[in-house]
Amino acid sequence: MSSPSNIIRAKLDDVPILASAELAFVGIGSNLATDQDEPIVLLQRAFAALALLSDYPILVSSLWESMPLDCPAGSPRFVNAVAALRPRHNDPRQLLSSLQKIEDDFGRRRGAVRNAPRTLDLDILSFGAALMHEAALTLPHPRMHERAFVLKPLLEIAPNYRVPGMKRPASALLREIVGQGTLTPINLPKSL
Ligand code: AMP
Repeated sequence: MSSPSNIIRAKLDDVPILASAELAFVGIGSNLATDQDEPIVLLQRAFAALALLSDYPILVSSLWESMPLDCPAGSPRFVNAVAALRPRHNDPRQLLSSLQKIEDDFGRRRGAVRNAPRTLDLDILSFGAALMHEAALTLPHPRMHERAFVLKPLLEIAPNYRVPGMKRPASALLREIVGQGTLTPINLPKSL
């Protein structure tokens, strides 16, 4: 699966039109295959779905394999990535609802077990500088700053990123949790 032109692997500062825009950062994870696709393929398909929510090509990180955190015993490892998009609509609630629709389209089942293996998990990490605390949506994502599998790919896209409302840059936050589980870059096979 080669990258279409609406999906870019680059640093934010190298794309001035995005560097000066209000962006939404989305955390992406999968630790369960569908009947058709393994998590690595699901993440690439998720990039394509996210690009449709953006009015400019999205920036994406590389894919990382991480140990499950706060998941039921025996859960498979995750494939994680982060994407930055310029949302078509300036409404984080609408973005959340679009992300949940994509999760459903990817076969996500919402059961009783918290953090059970999932085909696709999409979290809004931040939406511009928005600070929100509602029943259905907290911004920035309340656990993003303590998750290496979020910060590491996010910093690939935006090395100077600051979590809205936090004083220290994300790079400093990551240094504090370095060594949390294992986080391994995934080398994609040429056929993808
Ligand atoms: P999960 O898919 O298991 O990560 O959890 C999704 C739940 O978290 C949904 O009920 C959302 O309404 C809620 N939620 C709260 N804040 C966020 C956020 N920033 N991004 C995604 N889901 C969120």
